[in-house]
Amino acid sequence: MGEELLEMVSRIVILKEKMNLLLEESKKSEKEFGALLFGRIEGNKAIVHLIKLLRYSERSTTHFIADPIFLMESFSEAEKMGLELVGIFHSHPAPPKPSASDLRYMELNPVVWLIVDNTNLTVGAYVLEKGGLRQVGIEVIKNFS
Ligand SMILES: [Zn+2]
Repeated sequence: MGEELLEMVSRIVILKEKMNLLLEESKKSEKEFGALLFGRIEGNKAIVHLIKLLRYSERSTTHFIADPIFLMESFSEAEKMGLELVGIFHSHPAPPKPSASDLRYMELNPVVWLIVDNTNLTVGAYVLEKGGLRQVGIEVIKNFS
C-alpha cells in the first residue's frame, strides 16, 4: 500500500468471524501470534477480505520471523484475488501498543498494524506516518452488505 493511500485510512473493517478467529488464535498461542490481512482500500477504509495466519521460521513469546515460502505463497494468492496487504496483526503479552522494534517494521511495512494484548484481548490499530504514530478505528461487521 502506498503511503499516500495509508494517510487517508481512518479505520480498518473486518468481519466478526475473522476477528474472532484472530483473537482465539492469539489467546491459545503461548508464543507470539501473527497474521497477514489482505484487502482493498476504499476511501478512508481498509477493508479486509483475506486473512492468512502466519507460518514461522523462528518464533518465541516476544518475537517471530515469518516463513519466506509462506510469504511468497500468501502474496501470490492475494494478488490473484486482486487484493493487497492492508494490515498486519500480531499479539503481545502486554498492552497493545507498538514496541520499538514494531516501529522499525512499521516503517518498512506501511500498512495498518493491529496489535492484541493476549492477556485480555484488547486490540489497538495504528499507522506510522511522517507525523508519527496515529491510532485508527477498528470496525467489526457481521457481513458485507
Ligand atoms: Zn509487537
